[in-house]
Amino acid sequence: MQFLAPIVSRKIIANNTVEVVCKAHSAFSFKAGQYVTVTIPALSDRPIRERFRDFSIASSPSEPSKIAFSFRTSPHQSPYKHYITTCPIGTELEVEGPKGVFTLPDNLTTPLVFIAGGVGVTPFLSMICFATETQSPQQIHLITSNSSPDRAVYIEEIRTIADNNPHVTLTEHIGRIDANFLREEITLTTKNALWYIAGPPAMVHTIQTMLEHEGIHPANLRSESFTGYA
Ligand SMILES: Cc1cc2nc3c(=O)[nH]c(=O)nc-3n(C[C@H](O)[C@H](O)[C@H](O)COP(=O)(O)OP(=O)(O)OC[C@H]3O[C@@H](n4cnc5c(N)ncnc54)[C@H](O)[C@@H]3O)c2cc1C
Repeated sequence: MQFLAPIVSRKIIANNTVEVVCKAHSAFSFKAGQYVTVTIPALSDRPIRERFRDFSIASSPSEPSKIAFSFRTSPHQSPYKHYITTCPIGTELEVEGPKGVFTLPDNLTTPLVFIAGGVGVTPFLSMICFATETQSPQQIHLITSNSSPDRAVYIEEIRTIADNNPHVTLTEHIGRIDANFLREEITLTTKNALWYIAGPPAMVHTIQTMLEHEGIHPANLRSESFTGYA
């Protein structure tokens, strides 16, 4: 579906990282892990590709009236990011979705390993919030990877979930994930787990290749590439 969604809040959630929360249409619903396409009506005079971006929904489907998404900013950011970080609260954005199949499996007995590159943690936050709220028995191990601790998005929320939900465990990694690190993460339990990877395309591709090299079956790999990030 497609609808106009006013921005209800916006805040900095980590170094160079902003969260925007919009009010969704009353008929909107989504699955944890899905994304939306967000178009800025005020940029209608710009070339089409500059007017929209895709964002994974960071909030939980238990609260479908709220669409939270987060993204990195930079000093030389696109007109899109400039507008969305400076426009008044209440500005309406055009939201299309939900989209995507990067969602929790139906089978609750398979353990899951989530690998998040930077802001790629957003679909996983939605999934672990939803799994926690619904008291899912699924075992979920989340690995966050950031270039520095101050870039770790939603880390306080994630630590709180991991501290209180025995089904969710967390490894916070600083720096690039390499084959040695992955080898240590591949245990008897995770060998046959479903592995989910989200983040910049190059990171997703590299980790997927390394996991396959370490013996994880391609059928057990799911990924979401945040196309647009180098
Ligand atoms: C399924 C999905 C989910 C995503 N979720 C998030 C998220 O939760 N948080 C987040 O920060 N980013 C997410 N992204 C990436 C996001 O859509 C932006 O591309 C990214 O934030 C960079 O935008 P920018 O304006 O800073 O980059 P720019 O520097 O303006 O973009 C670089 C170039 O890439 C082009 N481009 C941007 N997006 C795409 C695209 N999807 N496909 C092809 N070309 C593109 C632009 O037109 C521009 O020419 C997601 C992407 C996808 C496909």
